[in-house]
Formats: sequence, C-alpha cells, structure tokens
Amino acid sequence: MNKDRKTVGVAGAGIVGVCTALMLQREGFKVTIIDPNPPGDGASFGNAGCFNASSIVPMSMPGMMSSLPKWLLDPMGPLSIRLSYLPRIAPWLVQFLLAGRPEKVKGQARALRSLLKSTVPLISSLADEAGAGHLIRHEGHLTVYRTEPEFEKDRGGWELRRLNGVKTQVLDAAALRDFDPNLSPRITKAILVEENGHTVNPRELVVHLFRKIIANGGDYVPARVTGFETDGNSLKSIETTNGSIVVDAAVVATGAHSRSLAASLGDHVPLDTERGYHIVIKHPEVTPRIPTTDATGKFIATPMEMGLRVAGTVEFAGLAAAPNWKRAHILYTQIQSLLPGLGPLGSEDRYTKWMGFRPSVPDSLPVIGFAHRTPDVVYAFGHGHLGMTGAPMTATIVSELLSGKKTSIDITPFAPGRFSGSEAHSYGVTAPFA
Ligand SMILES: Cc1cc2nc3c(=O)[nH]c(=O)nc-3n(C[C@H](O)[C@H](O)[C@H](O)COP(=O)(O)OP(=O)(O)OC[C@H]3O[C@@H](n4cnc5c(N)ncnc54)[C@H](O)[C@@H]3O)c2cc1C
Repeated sequence: MNKDRKTVGVAGAGIVGVCTALMLQREGFKVTIIDPNPPGDGASFGNAGCFNASSIVPMSMPGMMSSLPKWLLDPMGPLSIRLSYLPRIAPWLVQFLLAGRPEKVKGQARALRSLLKSTVPLISSLADEAGAGHLIRHEGHLTVYRTEPEFEKDRGGWELRRLNGVKTQVLDAAALRDFDPNLSPRITKAILVEENGHTVNPRELVVHLFRKIIANGGDYVPARVTGFETDGNSLKSIETTNGSIVVDAAVVATGAHSRSLAASLGDHVPLDTERGYHIVIKHPEVTPRIPTTDATGKFIATPMEMGLRVAGTVEFAGLAAAPNWKRAHILYTQIQSLLPGLGPLGSEDRYTKWMGFRPSVPDSLPVIGFAHRTPDVVYAFGHGHLGMTGAPMTATIVSELLSGKKTSIDITPFAPGRFSGSEAHSYGVTAPFA
C-alpha cells in the first residue's frame, strides 16, 4: 500500500461504492463510506441484477439513428424524452449519436470487454467474503428474437461480441422449447451466453457488502458530500452536510449525482441520467428459467427472490421530475408477450414498481481515474446500463490507483478528461497497465 495514503472516504454506497470500499480494505486502507441514504437505495436497488460479461455493445451503435423516430413515436417503445427536458438533454444526445460511429464503437467495445470480462468471478469473490454467495447465480443469459429480420438488426452487435472473445450458443425454436418451455412459441431464435451471471437480489447484495465493510472496521457517515478541501494538489478533507472528514484520499462513487462533485474539481463530464423502471410480480404464475433479454421490447426479465422482475426502458427527464408510472406498466404488457402463462397484472398488492437513475455518459464508458485537481481523489461513476457488471473491476482499478500500483487493465478509455480534451492524469502510476 502507498505509505502516503492510509484513510479513504468513499462517497456513495451503491454497488460501485461498496465494491470499491471492500477492495480498498483488502489493500489495507481504513475506509469511511459517506451517503445520506441507506446503502443500495439508488440505481443499485432496482436493476435487472445481471453481471453480463458479454454486455460490451455500446448503447449508441451505427444505424441507431434510423430506429429513433419509431421508438420515440411508439407509446409502448423502449425510449421516451420529456419535452420539457429536451433542451437540457439535446447536447448529450448529439454526443451520444456521434459516439455511435463505426470507428468509435470498436474501441468502446474493447474497453468494455476488458472492464467486464472478469465480473462473475470478481463479484463472487466479494459476495463470498461478505457471506452473500447465496445471492449470486452463474446460469448464463438468454437474448430472444421473434423474427429473422429482428435478429439481423443485432447481427453487428453479436459480431462485435465474438471479435472480443464472447462465446455464444444459438438455439432454434425447438432447442429453445427444451431449454425454457415458459417462453412464447413466437420466439424463433435465442442466443445463450453461458459466462454471464446474476444476483437474485441487487439491494441485498449491496447491503451484505456494506455490512462486511463495517464488520471489517469501516465507518459510515450518513451525510451528503458537498465538496472537497484541497491544498495545492493534495486533498485536505471531504466536505459534507455533517461537517468535514479528514482523509488521505476520496472516491466519488455517487452514480448519477456525480457531475457537480467532478466539476468542483475541474472535471466537466457530460453525465446525465437515463431513467429506468421495473415492475416486480411477487408470485408470478411462470418465470423465465434464467435472465432473459427481449430484443423487441429491450427489457430484461430476471427471476429473483422477490418474484419476477421486469426491468428496462430509457426515459430522459433528469433527476428531479416525478416518475411516469405508465413506463413501468408498459413493461408488464410486454412481458406478457414473452411469457404467455402470466396472468393479468391485477391489483397493487400483486406487484411493486420502481424508477431509478442510470448514471450515463454518451460514449457508454464509465469515468474512472484521478481528478484533474488532485491525485488524492479518484472517480468511479458513469456506468450507465452496466454498473452492477462494471463495479467489481472498477473497484479493483480504484484500489490499484490509490495504492500506487499499475492497473490490471488499460484505463485510458475511461479517462475523466476525454470529453474536455484535457490530458489523462497518470500521476505516474496508471500507464503502462500490467
Ligand atoms: C432499469 C434498470 C436496469 C438495470 N439493469 C442492470 C443490469 O442488469 N446489470 C447492470 O450491470 N446494470 C444494470 N443497471 C445499471 C445499474 O443499476 C447502475 O449502473 C448502477 O446501479 C450504478 O451504481 P452506482 O453505485 O454508480 O450508483 P447508485 O446505485 O445510484 O449509488 C449512488 C449512491 O450515491 C449516493 N449519493 C448521491 N449523491 C451523493 C453525495 N453528494 N454524497 C454522498 N452520497 C451521494 C446515493 O444516495 C446512492 O446511494 C440497470 C439500471 C436500471 C435503471
């Protein structure tokens, strides 16, 4: 461990913050977690729970522009923009579409594969350490298609995965019936990726990891981080709504709320939120056998401890607007076409619904690296649709950076300064990667 840094404050107790805190403890750091909300109550609460090492296809892909009008005009479609938020999100959307150029997506996919490929063993190891091994499953992930033209639209994405070492199995209609008889007979083709895993309770996983951090001697301060006090390029303290916390280093893992904290340290990152919804049917008549992505509806159905969770949709409406619960109910209509054995939605005691804030950056890559102003602050946010999957390797990288070690993977693609054109700060430890 770097002798100069012994204490670290981690802002944010979502999946990224708790994985990072636990990895830092493995390196010998004394850790304080700071969050005004209970652990696992942010985006990490209600996601689809997938640890998909194969999810390396960026959200913005060549040809996406042609699908946008259809998605936006269809009230059942996977994408919506609140008109009042359009002026705010427009520059982000432009950057998003530019990120989908062919020459860009290859590099993004390569970077994502390096970040995600070890996710199942890494999260299993952290969960085992925290007594939460029972929450992790290693059963693979299925993506299903109703028609050949629908599959053709995704062919480029599957080729990108293959080029990056993802192994797939194609199931035709008959093989799929054998694999999972609950899925609609209208599904004609499915792709199975065996290396993927999932958790049967994302929030409980975060809570178990958090409890382990405290059992290891970590501290918890229930407060909001408001800024950082620096002296030259050294961190003096973390400022919170509950006073100053004097530490040697800090990690910003505040998910969709990280933009202003990064800006306070001179890093202007185009972080916004893609709001997502879920609906959990508590005692479903049927569930898919394993987590299943419906390529038409662009949602994931995951069998969980709490019932059947259907999660997805993207809504651009910022951090302040109230949820539009129609977006959650749409998911139920869609899941019925995937699982015809499901009964009607019924009354509110049969299900729960939720909305959360994906922390999203236009190029589908998280922001991981030193702050512009000081190497004592490291960013770990912006994981978008992939924060569960990306958290374990992000945590590894952050602990390596603060320990002064070479990083396990090349972190250049995740550089905080990549949007403003400012140089990535290596502070002598990040390159070349090991
Ligand atoms: C519908 C949906 C489905 C998804 N499915 C998947 C999936 O299957 N697999 C996958 O990998 N990802 C999935 N995701 C994405 C994933 O949920 C997120 O990327 C991930 O949870 C982000 O984790 P985080 O720790 O960065 O943020 P969060 O979980 O949001 O945690 C951030 C924490 O920071 C705290 N905070 C905020 N501001 C401050 C402050 N100033 N000071 C201190 N604390 C602060 C918050 O209270 C919160 O606890 C999905 C997301 C959605 C919405």
